[in-house]
Amino acid sequence: MAFEGLTERLQKAMEKLRRKPKVTEADLRETMREIRLALLEADVNFTVVKDFVKKVRTKATGAEVLKGLNPAQQIVKIVNDELTELMGSEAVALNKAPHIPTVIMMVGLQGAGKTTTAGKLAYRLKNEDHARPLFIAADVYRPAAITQLQQVADSIDVPVFEKGTDVDPVEIVREGLAAAKANHNDYVIIDTAGRLQIDEQLMDELANIKELAQPNEILLVVDAMTGQNAVATAQGFDDKLDVTGVVLTKLDGDTRGGAAMSIRAVTGKPIKFVGEGEKMENLDVFHPDRMASRILG
Ligand code: GDP
Repeated sequence: MAFEGLTERLQKAMEKLRRKPKVTEADLRETMREIRLALLEADVNFTVVKDFVKKVRTKATGAEVLKGLNPAQQIVKIVNDELTELMGSEAVALNKAPHIPTVIMMVGLQGAGKTTTAGKLAYRLKNEDHARPLFIAADVYRPAAITQLQQVADSIDVPVFEKGTDVDPVEIVREGLAAAKANHNDYVIIDTAGRLQIDEQLMDELANIKELAQPNEILLVVDAMTGQNAVATAQGFDDKLDVTGVVLTKLDGDTRGGAAMSIRAVTGKPIKFVGEGEKMENLDVFHPDRMASRILG
């Protein structure tokens, strides 16, 4: 289960605090040490952990929490609030174009869940907004990628614009956007190529697609299971493409939680959705407060 180890350790630290009749400075120091270790163990970025612990400690000391009623309970609340803030405070909605179509570009490493997430997003838009999305198949490096997108699209009854694998992806996107305009599609979702690692050539291609398509939303799809690598990947993509949002996938797996807690702080970009399974309905809006409660258990 996601966050299992972290939740257990944080709960233990809080429980220990609750059992004290009176919370001393030394108890607080000990709790902070336990929180710090729990976060590091969960693969949260080192700098993020340092800042987080510092903020909690300042609030807990500054507000004279220790002298007040239920100090343990107040510290739990401070941890909860700071955890929420760390992950972005509030849910951030998908950007929308003033005139149709809204163009969404999906980017990410191979296997992160780009194509699946593109499908989930289209499914969501269809159900919630009665939208008529169009996919553009811009991954020309793996023939299987187009087949996979087609399968996903068929399962949710969404059309795919594709030109096989012998056409320049920028050209495919140009023609796909023209087709979307002609058909009055209100959303265009561009599925781009991924690689196993960030490389210059891929980044240049994505930058060229961005330049042409002027997307309203560049959604970076990252695999939550990859921890600090997910954070480094996010930074790499963001440096080159200035992404507008992040989708964290595979949160139904047993991720330790580092990516969920570090990405916002490190990149400054909001997590907009989380993937919690392989099915089309397994995409949820990311609510930092709910995630904080889930982590604290
Ligand atoms: P892409 O290469 O980035 O397009 O990745 P895919 O969309 O092909 O996804 C790679 C694998 O991850 C597939 O087997 C998906 O079913 C799986 N996957 C994607 N998102 C999730 C998720 O949120 N949870 C789980 N458990 N699996 C996912």
